[in-house]
Amino acid sequence: MDFNALAEMLFPHITETPADVEAKYPPRNLPEGAKVTRFAPSPTGFVHFGGLFPSTVAERLAHQSGGVFYLRIEDTDAKREVEGAAEGLIKTLATYGINFDEGAILDESGKVADKGAYGPYKQSMRGPIYQTFAKQLVREGKAYPCFTTEEELDELQQVNKKEEIKNTDWQAEAESRRAEMLARRSFTMEEVKEHLDAGHPFVVRILANGDPEKKVKFTDLVKGAIEFPENDEDFVLLKSDGIPTYHFAHAVDDHLMGTTHVIRGEEWLPSLPKHVQLFSYLGFKLPKYMHIAQIMRLDENGNKKKLSKRDMGANMDDYTRMGYSPEAVCEYVMTLLNSNYEEWHAKNLDKPYTEFPFNIKKMSVSGCLFDFNKLNDVSKNILSRMTAEGVYEKLTVWASAFDPDFAEALTSDKEMAVKILSIGRGGKKPRKDLATWADAKPYMGFFYDKFFAIEDEYPAFDQDIIKATLEKFLETYNYADEMNVWFDKIKAIADSLGFASDMKAYKANPEAFKGNVADISAFIRVAVTGKQNAPDLYTVMQIIGEEKTRARISAQIDTMK
Ligand code: GLU
Repeated sequence: MDFNALAEMLFPHITETPADVEAKYPPRNLPEGAKVTRFAPSPTGFVHFGGLFPSTVAERLAHQSGGVFYLRIEDTDAKREVEGAAEGLIKTLATYGINFDEGAILDESGKVADKGAYGPYKQSMRGPIYQTFAKQLVREGKAYPCFTTEEELDELQQVNKKEEIKNTDWQAEAESRRAEMLARRSFTMEEVKEHLDAGHPFVVRILANGDPEKKVKFTDLVKGAIEFPENDEDFVLLKSDGIPTYHFAHAVDDHLMGTTHVIRGEEWLPSLPKHVQLFSYLGFKLPKYMHIAQIMRLDENGNKKKLSKRDMGANMDDYTRMGYSPEAVCEYVMTLLNSNYEEWHAKNLDKPYTEFPFNIKKMSVSGCLFDFNKLNDVSKNILSRMTAEGVYEKLTVWASAFDPDFAEALTSDKEMAVKILSIGRGGKKPRKDLATWADAKPYMGFFYDKFFAIEDEYPAFDQDIIKATLEKFLETYNYADEMNVWFDKIKAIADSLGFASDMKAYKANPEAFKGNVADISAFIRVAVTGKQNAPDLYTVMQIIGEEKTRARISAQIDTMK
């Protein structure tokens, strides 16, 4: 067959050659060892936590090596595309420190635009480029047209699926597929011409030359040495609208855009034989690959499951709503990605995670387990090391969006809010009350009358004793007292009511007392804060002031008639 003539017949509108295209994508001028990586999402919805993984790795490896990190929008499946998803994902990724040097960016009007010399970065804009390479493959007898219509293909797929369920005779099925494929391969120029003249749509398939009995050896930078059978499936390169499949677009784009490391989810690993074949057909150098393990979660029965789209914690935008600070999420991702991150972090508490020497060899080969408890621990540590001012700024931004009432309370008296947030901050062992901004109101809301309520029970003692404690406290309370004087007065109340003021004495002979000074403090604490657990009570009283302290205690006494 005259493949040249076939190529011309199929792609008369494509006048450029691959060499013409290549000339527009010269090799990048980068220092030795610099990595070029990309994130290549399909704009089909929100950013999944699992997407933050490969993108963080890609960002780190590029920027750590003085390379380039770019964003490519893989919008070849128009049916699945969601309006505004591309814009949304650029914004979300930026929140998590995933900033691109090049590729699809948001312009001033908030629309997706291109930045960089290796574009367009939206696959739907690259039709003629893919067609140029497809034409070349046809010319070389490595690809061919297939006039099965999309409906027929859909139908075929349905039938195959149904058969897969019923038919367990895999051998027979493989043979029938093979026969079908070989039938597709034999056609005449006249037939092609007839189809084209009749305006029939066609797809372009690769003419697979693999022998599944033979193995391809391959090294994945995460998974290690892998072997898989050569590809013998004539998979589709170009769909009937001239838009490529993922496989073809991946080969053409990553080659032209100079990607050195393809970092993607491990769900793409089974497609690798196809990609290896394609790169070789096209005469492109194969990039290095890293297939990142999927994120798992534990289900109710303690079994590992993939963190799916609908699971809590999957949608990155939820983290904002839940009040996680992006630094915490990023750091959590690092602990999951690199087994030695925590050790490094413990030694470099004041350094940002971007200074951590990220190491491919320390990555987990199997799935990482997503765990909110661990995220909360990481987050508490981060928030505990921020300054009170820093916490105030971030907390008010979050509250303005998600809890305007609380935001108003915070901003109506910034000085007081900062004082509250300063409690237990600084020093070697800072308090770790907050994992999220949403934890702040339950923790500190009681300072504000608007949110104050007696939430906890008083410790189980006679109400007369509790009332007497509160009355005695009011009698001697003086706002100007130093902490020691203030506490001595509470101890005196303990003694006067038959409670131990000295913990040693209490421990030696608990029977001799009704209780101890901690119980007495707890009565006062519940009256003033509404809680059994609250920050240092002396400091609390200093912040809310004498008037409010007295008013709250009196109000409690009044309820105890
Ligand atoms: N568009 C593909 C996806 O969203 C990209 C995979 C890749 O990074 O190559 O899964």
